[in-house]
Amino acid sequence: MTGVGYDDIFLTHGIEEHPERPERLRVIMQQLERSGLLDEMLRMPVRPASPEEIGWVHDDDYIAEVRAISAAGGGDFDLDTRATEGTWEAACSAVGVCIDAARAVRDRDLDNAICLVRPPGHHALVHTAMGFCFFNNIAIAAEALLLDGMERVAIIDFDGHHGNGTQEHFYHRGDVLYVSLHQTPLFPGTGTVDEVGVDTGAGLTLNLPLPRYAQDIHYLRAFDELILPVVAAYEPQMILVSAGFDPHFRDTLVQLSLTARGFFLMTVGLLTAARELCDGRLMMALEGGYDLQVGLPESVDATVRALLRKPEVEWTPLDRPPHPEQAALIDETLDAIIRTHQERLG
Ligand SMILES: [Zn+2]
Repeated sequence: MTGVGYDDIFLTHGIEEHPERPERLRVIMQQLERSGLLDEMLRMPVRPASPEEIGWVHDDDYIAEVRAISAAGGGDFDLDTRATEGTWEAACSAVGVCIDAARAVRDRDLDNAICLVRPPGHHALVHTAMGFCFFNNIAIAAEALLLDGMERVAIIDFDGHHGNGTQEHFYHRGDVLYVSLHQTPLFPGTGTVDEVGVDTGAGLTLNLPLPRYAQDIHYLRAFDELILPVVAAYEPQMILVSAGFDPHFRDTLVQLSLTARGFFLMTVGLLTAARELCDGRLMMALEGGYDLQVGLPESVDATVRALLRKPEVEWTPLDRPPHPEQAALIDETLDAIIRTHQERLG
């Protein structure tokens, strides 16, 4: 059974004028109802994480600040990241269901799971909110597994932005492999190929900063030639995914060129790896994705279709293939990224 972590509480954070708006989850849920996939998943109960659980990643002072600012009706953390009255409850609940989904998949109560949560998490830092993110849902879920006794967790982050918060938290640690594919240049500006981890985490951060207009074919090559072999060599006991759908070609904040099929095939690849490495243990949590008409709902639907092991369907095709020179540049850049990492890793 595939679990889905969703609750209307996630709609209470934020405002509709912001790109990271409640409507994002409404269009996803409508699509999953329309396609019938929602009926095939087990809806997980959603409960707020405690400050103690959130404290596995974040500072107590910062956690108290989010609570106080929400209670006071809201306020800005940075230009893009505003807490509203509902933020505290929504953010705690997003963390709570991610922890519970990770544990349920670990215990094989679920085959796999996807948490359709807001606010997202991968930019959130130990001390502060950043880039629409408040609490780092996936990092806290990983900490839950590790505190329970797991020894190695892999986090794959295919959001179009680099997950700087997740990388920073685990950068020096040997118990988490962090892999990110993202557009460069783009916010937050981190995630270069030479950021590879330090101390016992040396070699356990893997960044693939890709040029604009990279397509499905480039992502799948990166998975086949680099990411899946690196994950296999690490022998994780569970795979967590920061599932951001802003690499879709219709997205308004990112200039990558994936289609829903790309997300489907990436998820199939991750499921196959999980089956070979860790009895299929895979849990995904929503990060970004801002095209409400096609990019976000279709890509989530395709991803869920893969989790349910259903065959491909027809998805909206790429309507703007890159200029030949741009295509050549993407190929060359990807070649160089793969070669650099392969030489470093031996
Ligand atoms: Zn993003």
